[in-house]
Amino acid sequence: MDAAHLEKLAADFTLESPLNRVVMEQSGEALTLFDPPLLGYASAVDPLFEAFLAPGVIGPHYRPPRQWLADARTVISFFLPFSQAVRSRNRAARSVPSQAWLYGRVEGQRFVEALTLHLQKALRDAGFETVAPSLSPEFWTVSEPETEDGPAFTSNWSERHAAYACGLGTFGLSRGLITRRGMAGRFGSLVAAWETPPTPREYRSHYEWCIRCGACIRRCPGKAISLERGKDHHLCLAYQTVILPQCRPRFGCGLCQTGVPCEAARPLFR
Ligand code: SF4
Ligand code: SF4
Repeated sequence: MDAAHLEKLAADFTLESPLNRVVMEQSGEALTLFDPPLLGYASAVDPLFEAFLAPGVIGPHYRPPRQWLADARTVISFFLPFSQAVRSRNRAARSVPSQAWLYGRVEGQRFVEALTLHLQKALRDAGFETVAPSLSPEFWTVSEPETEDGPAFTSNWSERHAAYACGLGTFGLSRGLITRRGMAGRFGSLVAAWETPPTPREYRSHYEWCIRCGACIRRCPGKAISLERGKDHHLCLAYQTVILPQCRPRFGCGLCQTGVPCEAARPLFR
């Protein structure tokens, strides 16, 4: 098992799996959710994973790779870019996300999990123990503070931070991760007792690929993003709660990830 083989498995599964296709009940239209993924790799003992423990980065509740798998060698991160069909429909949205985006958010997450399990099985079949932290019973996430002092909008494993460590890209003002295929998509990851060369990180700081153009600020109907503070998770959640009746049985927004220069590519400074 080498990285090229793993990448082919991931691409083939994305192209062939029926889970990557939906028929939207509102319109009867069939839709492919994702293009084939980008994969990146980091050493499980990369010092960055320890740096994520710092307060203000993720925090001491974060679990580095070897707390998920004691003999972990590699963290594998993947980014599944939303298809042109999903992105273009949300680009046209002004206050409520498109149905295509909502399917991508909810049914898309099921596909992310299916791809994660597919890669996990392939690695295990090849003899390498593998854990998917976000599918582990030990994974937790909080979208609101449990107490006044409790952590908010955090978790003990972060897909975006894993992707950053694995060379896939840097954060944007809207707090998504900008990859060379943009920000509009979903992330997944695995920790494995499998060794492969790390993907070079073509950046030195965590916001390097964001050009601070402010387009995501203008796109956000919840006024949740500012140049000074980035994204305010409380305002974002409040807005998504307001529009929930129009989105049910799904949820989401993602207007800040579409109709912006970082939607489907790494934006360039002019
Ligand atoms: S829209 Fe512009 S400011 Fe916002 S995250 Fe993308 S590149 Fe950064
Ligand atoms: S920050 Fe939240 S409310 Fe604003 S566009 Fe993005 S997802 Fe929507």
